[in-house]
Amino acid sequence: MPVLPIVRLGHPALRSPARPVPAERIGTPEVQRLIDDMVETMREARGVGLAATQVGEELQLFVYEVRGEESDPVVPLHVVVNPMLTPQPGELVYDWEGCLSIPDLRGLVPRHPAVRVRGLDRQGHAVDYLASGFEARIVQHEFDHLNGVVFLDRMRDLRTLAFYDEWEEYMVGGAVEQAGVG
Ligand SMILES: [Zn+2]
Repeated sequence: MPVLPIVRLGHPALRSPARPVPAERIGTPEVQRLIDDMVETMREARGVGLAATQVGEELQLFVYEVRGEESDPVVPLHVVVNPMLTPQPGELVYDWEGCLSIPDLRGLVPRHPAVRVRGLDRQGHAVDYLASGFEARIVQHEFDHLNGVVFLDRMRDLRTLAFYDEWEEYMVGGAVEQAGVG
């Protein structure tokens, strides 16, 4: 299976709102292959999420998964089509993010602590669940991609922006927790 090229900041797909996927198209070989290729691309790039716009497809669709040390998933693979997010009450949480389309940079991004996710799965069945913590952060990052928004747009203080090596050396210190990269 081919791994798709990930487009980088400057590519118009990252700044265009994605179109909804018609429900009857979700089961087509074309969309199913795109989903499989996106999952493989995300894993190959060691990301925790990937939106269709990041592979140049302006469709409302993203995948995400967090794998643990032993390859057992901390957050199992999710495929979300035509997502709608409803932020849950609670103070915004700041944490580090990166993006496969903005390689090598990290920055502090505020996100809602939890979001309700509604949409369709890869079989076209309705999904409706609550994502919190790191999963909520990933979902908000990927959802933003479907609306032409990148994490830089969400940063409140660009002074926290850093290249990965410098971030590791000066900004997180000691044992590095991997920042969410999607
Ligand atoms: Zn991203």
